[in-house]
Amino acid sequence: MAKGNFFSERRFRFMAIIILGLVLISAGCSRDRETYSKTARSKLIQPPKWWEQLPRSIYLRFDKVQTNQSWYEVYQLRESTYAIYEPYQFEEAISYLLIGTDKALMVDTGTGIGDLKKLISELTQVPIAVLNTHIHWDQVGNNSQFDEILVYNSIESITKLYTGYNNSFLKGHILGDSIWKSLPENIDPDTWKIPPVKSTDLVEDGMIYDLGNRPIEVIHSPGHSPDSICLLDKKNRLLFCGDFFYSGPLYAFEEDVNIQDYITSLENLIKRIDEFDFLCPSHNVPWVKSDILLKVQDAFEDIMRGKGRYEESENLRRYYFGDFDVIIRVDMIKEKSEDRSKRDTEIG
Ligand SMILES: [Zn+2]
Repeated sequence: MAKGNFFSERRFRFMAIIILGLVLISAGCSRDRETYSKTARSKLIQPPKWWEQLPRSIYLRFDKVQTNQSWYEVYQLRESTYAIYEPYQFEEAISYLLIGTDKALMVDTGTGIGDLKKLISELTQVPIAVLNTHIHWDQVGNNSQFDEILVYNSIESITKLYTGYNNSFLKGHILGDSIWKSLPENIDPDTWKIPPVKSTDLVEDGMIYDLGNRPIEVIHSPGHSPDSICLLDKKNRLLFCGDFFYSGPLYAFEEDVNIQDYITSLENLIKRIDEFDFLCPSHNVPWVKSDILLKVQDAFEDIMRGKGRYEESENLRRYYFGDFDVIIRVDMIKEKSEDRSKRDTEIG
C-alpha cells in the first residue's frame, strides 16, 4: 500500500468517525425535538400546522400599535386598553395593559418569551402592577420582570408562583410545532425557565383595584383552576376573563380543573352579564361578545348529560360547539354522570 494511500485511508476513517459522530449527535437532537413535540400534546389539543388559521380576522377591527418588540403584536381595544398578543407560539397568549390616571395594570404577563417590560415602556410611563388571572406558565411568564405582583389570595397561587416552571416542563412548548417563528436570541430551549416569583400583594373576591378613575373589580371564578379570577372593568364594560373562556379549545382536562366549580362560576358571571359587553380572554382573540357565556353553560350541561359532537383519543374527548370547543377527560364525564344518576336515584 502506498504511503499516500495509507494516510488517505486514515484520514478517511477519521473523517468517517467525525461524520458518524455528528450524525449521531444530530439524530439524538432531532429525536429529542421530536419526542418533545410529540409528547407535549395530543393532536386533539395541538393540531398540526395550527398557525395556518392565522391571522385571526377579529384583529383587523383594531388599531395595530407599532413597537420595537417583534415577538409581540399590540392592538388598542379601547382608550388606554391594549391587548398584547403572542401569535408565534401555540398558546397564542394575550396579556392586557389597562392604564388609569395613577397606575397601570398588566393583566397577566404571557409566556415570558418576549421582553414584555421593554414593550410596556413603549406604551406607558405610569407605575405598573401585575395582576395574574391565575397561575399557569403562560400567564406568569414575565412576572419576574416587574416589582409589584398581585395574585388571588390562595395557597395554590402563592405556592405555584413561588415554585416557577423548570426547563423540562417548558421545553416542549417552544420546540418543534409549538412555535412557527424564530425565538428571540436570548431564549435557549435547553435552558429556558420561568423563575420563582414572590407575590407582593393579594386580592380577594369583590375587591376593587382602582387605577385612578378606573375601578377594576376582582371576581373569583374557579373552574379552569381553583385560583382563577376575572377582572371587571366597569367603566369600559369589559371582563378580563383569563382562561375561564377563550375562543378555542377550553382545557377542561387538566388536574386543577373542577367542573362543578366551572358551572357555579358560570352561573355567577351570567347573573352579572348586564355589566359587561365583551370578554377579553387570555388566548387567541381579545374580544368576544359576553353572551357566549350562555352557550358555554349549555355546552357543559350537554357534555355532562352525554350529548354533543366529539372526537375521542385515549382518555380525551374534544367536543365541538362552533365558537369554542371543550377538551375533557372521559373519566371526568363518567364521574359526573355517576354523581348525577346517584342523585336522581336518591331523589326518585
Ligand atoms: Zn390556564
